[in-house]
Amino acid sequence: MSVNIPEIFGSMVFSDKVMKERLPEGAYNAVREAIDNGTPLSHENAKIIASVMKEWAIEKGATHFTHWFQPMTGITAEKHDSFIEPAGNGEVIMKFSEKSLVKGESDASSFPSGGLRATFEARGYTAWDPTSYAFVKDGSLYVPTAFCSYGGEALDKKTPLLRSLETFNREALRILKLFGKENVKKVMPTCGSEQEYFLIDKSVYEKRLDLIHCGRTLFGARPSKGQELEDHYYGAIKSRVSAFMKELDTELWKLGVYAKTKHNEVAPAQHELAPVFTSINIASDQNQLTMELMKSVANKHGLVCLLHEKPFASVNGSGKHDNWSISTDTNENLLDPGATPSENAQFLLFLVAVISAVDKHQDLLRISVASAGNDHRLGADEAPPAIISIYLGEELEGILHAIESGREYNAKKKSELKIGVSVLPPIPKDSTDRNRTSPFAFTGNKFEFRMVGSSLNIACPNFIINTIVADELKEFADKLENATDFNTELNKLIKAKIKEHKRILFSGNNYSTEWKKEAKKRGLLNLQSTVDALPLYNQTKNVELFEKHKVLSGSEIHSRMEILLENYSNIVHIEALTAIDIARKHIIPSVLAYQTFLLKSHDLKEKCGVKFSRKMEEDLLGKISELAEKFYESLQKLDLDEKKYNKTWPNLKKAKFCKSVLLKEMQSLRNYADQMELLMGKEYINFPTYEDILYSVKY
Ligand code: ADP
Ligand code: MG
Repeated sequence: MSVNIPEIFGSMVFSDKVMKERLPEGAYNAVREAIDNGTPLSHENAKIIASVMKEWAIEKGATHFTHWFQPMTGITAEKHDSFIEPAGNGEVIMKFSEKSLVKGESDASSFPSGGLRATFEARGYTAWDPTSYAFVKDGSLYVPTAFCSYGGEALDKKTPLLRSLETFNREALRILKLFGKENVKKVMPTCGSEQEYFLIDKSVYEKRLDLIHCGRTLFGARPSKGQELEDHYYGAIKSRVSAFMKELDTELWKLGVYAKTKHNEVAPAQHELAPVFTSINIASDQNQLTMELMKSVANKHGLVCLLHEKPFASVNGSGKHDNWSISTDTNENLLDPGATPSENAQFLLFLVAVISAVDKHQDLLRISVASAGNDHRLGADEAPPAIISIYLGEELEGILHAIESGREYNAKKKSELKIGVSVLPPIPKDSTDRNRTSPFAFTGNKFEFRMVGSSLNIACPNFIINTIVADELKEFADKLENATDFNTELNKLIKAKIKEHKRILFSGNNYSTEWKKEAKKRGLLNLQSTVDALPLYNQTKNVELFEKHKVLSGSEIHSRMEILLENYSNIVHIEALTAIDIARKHIIPSVLAYQTFLLKSHDLKEKCGVKFSRKMEEDLLGKISELAEKFYESLQKLDLDEKKYNKTWPNLKKAKFCKSVLLKEMQSLRNYADQMELLMGKEYINFPTYEDILYSVKY
């Protein structure tokens, strides 16, 4: 069946076009003002919008509405209310009031607050975010909202993102004014997030308690064929996967998501979807939607979509490249090198702002992607290391070095590059996109932050990038606004910034051991795990930064740190309990059964007087028994330590214990189990193996 994309695209979205068509002019202008400039809506207008929105939603088949929000749990939350309202005489009317649109009361007590919400103030509220369009899905009208406590503190991932956009816009506009761009009214970061995922057959998933509870396998020997042949990357797409992708695209298009690229990824059963970039708040909401739809559409196809960062050891895990750039309402990409000296100067200013921001706040960028799942990926030579650095490509790095040292850039022309006076040599786009090992790469007209985990909400890395860059822009604007000679001052500033922060630039192989040594020499941070990174969240420098820009208060930062640490511990603790369960209920019985089989075979041969060297049974039994003993020892140790784990410990203590004790022991338990698996007969292994799972979608 063919799909008429222009016809279905955005058909389930209460978009600008729909609003323009359906709202009275006054109400439409008011909502545009709210979207563009944050002007609050009057009650009257909100009333009109709610009523028009309801009529539209009912036409699209909605019977319910929900405030859709992104609590700190990492997934989205929704509570559906029907439109019905008793009308007397046992009849109903369909109602959606201004209040229902704008503000929702919510019992916040079951969502993590990290101590922000005292128990006597368990209520929180959701507030409509008109900058992200409402939509209809599964018979409900979804209203994107921010989620706050009654004290106004952010309890979600969206609020700081929205706040960061305000400060970013303000500071970037100040800079553009200095370049004479008075006509620009709005500056907005843009984002395109490339989403990786695994697809496996539901039947194998249902037999793996670890996948069900933890989203990743806790046991499983390497398959005889993994990703070595590199035959999966960009390979022909199997028909079941293709049918899934087709339906996913169609559903996403209906919801106004610009799903663009789809292909097979490196690991068997791994795939990727990339949308066309859009403004960052919408991109962030749409990525959440994409992840949700991946799961629900997979289910319809008898498949399960795994979004965990490392579902399988021995093959690549999944990430999410966060492509970040800056756009103006006049359609200029501020990270695009221009053709005139002035454009180049402006480009260099924004570029250098990003470079200094990343260098100053390596800790925050690492924190923004810290999670139990992502720890298995970062630094494992399949994803960027935990060390943050920037890749600019040789040409651009060369230009910056020349600027810093005042040397001639172009040897042939013997000219010194003067910012604001001379034209930059052309920077070829292609050559800047080849280093796949860099965590933060400039790719022609955008930066690509490659450390983000596949399951993470991109609101967090993005509000952090927005804030740290806004802070640099503020510093630049403060200096340049008072300059007597703009170009001289700009030259001086850019030179000084390059000198100060060039240590963060690295265009070599980020996986190499030399880089680790070199990075250490340069004084760059190497925060290996979530537990190393998170405690730095509420350092004074960070509290001051976020408070200065009104993105997060000190107590909000503190609560976030606590929530993230607790979340980490909960995940590892559940993994430990699941590993113990699987070891007892599945692995021990199957190992014993296989040993019995070997013994029986051995005895039978002897009884029948078969002449044999006894080699095979004895050899296998010897090996397995030795491993089984170590396995059992390891299990007992894990079991004892799990019992020591105390939920009432402070969050950091819990997290440290989880990392250095529970995770370590789980790994050792797994090692023995995986070695035994490789020796055992297939019918004795009583759950699907890696081979079964990774190749479960056959056609
Ligand atoms: P790949 O990284 O696979 O080579 P690209 O780098 O071409 O692919 O694009 C990856 C993503 O970057 C896409 O989602 C694309 O929309 C996004 N992107 C392109 N330009 C911008 C921009 N100016 N701002 C943000 N994202 C962008
Ligand atoms: Mg990319």
